[in-house]
Amino acid sequence: MDAWGIYIHIPFCERKCPYCDFNTYAGMTSLYERFARTLAQEIRAEGERRGRPRARTVFLGGGTPTVLNPDQLALILDAVRAGFDLAENAEITSEANPGTVDRARFEALRELGVNRLSLGAQSFNADELRFLGRIHGVEDIYRAVEAARAAGFDNLNLDLIYGLPGQPTSTWEHSLREAIALAPEHLSCYALTVEEGTPLARWVAEGRVPAPDDDLQADLYARAREMLAGAGYVHYEISNWARPGHMCAHNLIYWRNEPYLGFGPGAHSCDLHRRWWTVRSPQVYIQRVESGESTEAGGEVLDEQTAMGETMMLGLRLLQEGVSRPGFQARFGRDVLQVYGPILRRLEDLGLLEIADAFVRLTPRAYPIANRVLVEFI
Ligand code: SF4
Repeated sequence: MDAWGIYIHIPFCERKCPYCDFNTYAGMTSLYERFARTLAQEIRAEGERRGRPRARTVFLGGGTPTVLNPDQLALILDAVRAGFDLAENAEITSEANPGTVDRARFEALRELGVNRLSLGAQSFNADELRFLGRIHGVEDIYRAVEAARAAGFDNLNLDLIYGLPGQPTSTWEHSLREAIALAPEHLSCYALTVEEGTPLARWVAEGRVPAPDDDLQADLYARAREMLAGAGYVHYEISNWARPGHMCAHNLIYWRNEPYLGFGPGAHSCDLHRRWWTVRSPQVYIQRVESGESTEAGGEVLDEQTAMGETMMLGLRLLQEGVSRPGFQARFGRDVLQVYGPILRRLEDLGLLEIADAFVRLTPRAYPIANRVLVEFI
């Protein structure tokens, strides 16, 4: 095994946003301390059980990792360093909500070795933030970015959401302009989706909110591509843009279908041969760790056909590098054209795919319908 990417799931938020279907819970502050201890115990034990393997990225996600205090986060990151041989130049990211941070918190994160921040800005329009149920206002985003820079963060991502029901192009352009003016190294732009079981899904079903419109979302996506290209960002993944040299190393591990370990409730892991996941409930997770039981809730062996399909589906999300043909050949002993020739040639004829000696990748024509193209491989 080369080196792992490590994902750590903090399943808590101050308040649950009505569109969110992540495994995260509000109102569990009384669990934070016990959770941090058991999570640290699990990470350390798993690393030691595997012989303290090498790790090259750490991603604290959620949820909102910054609801934990610096001592609790220190327990968790100390456990990573104890259980794993963490590369000197490892990318260590923390997600953060602009409503839960200040300069002191960012300085504490820097001291813990966190060197990349991902801020859930979502919109620079106050009404949109209210619709999204965010705990932060527009001013909090500016404050958070300023505080992050003052604390020494030089690798910053902003998340934005577009395609709210009836969203005018002007508010999306405004959000993009404001985001660009803050000069983050990385931007993620996600279309609002209606996830089953969320309050948003109920509102749409009851007719209280119109469903997001695909055509509108495609137009706003095209606008993001134009404006971000104009500002010097490289569109390197369907939903992600970066200044040269600032792609997210942790997420590249997923897109390149490389091995990762996930810790915390509901986290997924994959060692290239098998995928498994942990129990979703924070309480059950804590109880299992404390009683020495496995936290695994399920798993599946990945046969070669599945692994190849996933390598295509994930790799084609990378708009510049695509799927490496030598890399595919080295891993599966066959060229992509031997395995997927008819599909690839058909997509090429439709102008949706470029086939070169070193890679296959989507063409810009495919970007707005990428999800429909990618399912061809599973
Ligand atoms: S802050 Fe993020 S993780 Fe938490 S509920 Fe909102 S969208 Fe979900």
